[in-house]
Formats: sequence, structure tokens, C-alpha cells
Amino acid sequence: MSSILENILKYAEKTYGENVNKFIDEIRKRECFEHLVLTIISQNTNWRNVRKAAENLKKILGTITPYTVLSANIVDLERALKPAGLYRVKSRWLKNIAYTVVKEFGGSLDCLEELPLDEAREILLKIPGIGFKTADIILCFCFSKPILPVDTHIKRIARRTGICVSKNYDEIRIKLEREIRSEARLKAHLLLILFGRNICRARKPLCRKCPVNGICPSSIISK
Ligand code: SF4
Repeated sequence: MSSILENILKYAEKTYGENVNKFIDEIRKRECFEHLVLTIISQNTNWRNVRKAAENLKKILGTITPYTVLSANIVDLERALKPAGLYRVKSRWLKNIAYTVVKEFGGSLDCLEELPLDEAREILLKIPGIGFKTADIILCFCFSKPILPVDTHIKRIARRTGICVSKNYDEIRIKLEREIRSEARLKAHLLLILFGRNICRARKPLCRKCPVNGICPSSIISK
């Protein structure tokens, strides 16, 4: 593993490791379809807004399942998702995804568990509304597949540190996966997100607090 990534992960483990372990326990208990819904809602917004929208959804749906989403009134869905922004598009995506899961998968994506990673990924990517990040989160969180989902924070860290300067989703993912062993990828994904939210922030990164400020090419200190 490159020393820049190793140091970032060591710092993140020390700082956020305990919380991340608790979060992983929660992830394992959550239903796959709920992960799917939360990932769709979380696009282009922050977790505070996602939580509000998810609470609203639970109020109108009771339990978040493909069946409750499919039978929900679209206007109610839109109203529930409003705090997370892009609520019309996201409501339509959720409806489409719920429809596909019910009609083509019998209401559950569990059949993906037995399939090889690439095959399961291809199937998910064919569902309208599911992009690379959403597919990879489902594969990693729900089916423990050895994939490292790349979100906006991870992309920023990879580019700033020079781990991968490409903007291409799969190039970044593959580069990181070459450096992080299969069984550590879920945790690395979560640790890197927290590091990106708290230290290598989009605006005003806290390079002074960063463990790699002496070797990072984007450090505002080393310039
Ligand atoms: S030194 Fe600054 S830019 Fe580089 S990884 Fe740390 S916070 Fe990000």
C-alpha cells in the first residue's frame, strides 16, 4: 500500500474506527432495499438531509420495502424526499427501482448473493436509476462482495493525494482496490468518507491536521 494511503487509513482508524465498527454492525442488520433507497436519496446531499428524508419516508411507508414504495402515492414520496433535494427525480428512480425489484426479482435482490461479483454488478447497473456507486454500495454492504464503492469524498482524496488523478469512477475504484485487501474494503470505504468529511474537506481542507501533509502534493502546507 502507498505510504500516503496507509497513513490516511491509520489516522482514520485511530480517529473514527470505533464509530465505523458500530456503523458496520448497523449496516449488516439493515435490509438491502433500504440501503438502496438511502443511497439513492443521498445523491448530491448530506447525511443530515438524508436522515430527514428517510424519517419522512418511514412515516408515510411504515417499512421501506419495494412493495411499500411501489404502492406509495408519488406526490407523498416527493414530499417525503424534499429535504434531500432533487426529490422529483429521486422519487421517480425509487418507483422504477421498486417496480423492477418486484417484477423482475420477486421482491428481493437476494439472488445476487450467489452470483460472481461482475455478473451481479452488471445486473444492478441495468436497473434504471442505479449507477456505479449505488451498485457497488449494494454489493459491498448487502452481499459482502470485495468491492470498494467510490463516493465524492473518496474521489477527492484520491485525486488530491495523487493516488489516482483520473476522474473515471472505475479507474479510481480499481486503483484503490489494488492497494486495499478484499476484506478491508468496506471499512476503508467508510473511513475514507469520514476522513474526507472532516479533514480533506471539499472546501478549506484541514491540511494542518492531516497526517500526510508533508507528502501530499495538494497540501497547502508543503507549498
Ligand atoms: S494534506 Fe490536505 S489536501 Fe492532502 S490529503 Fe491532507 S487534507 Fe487533503
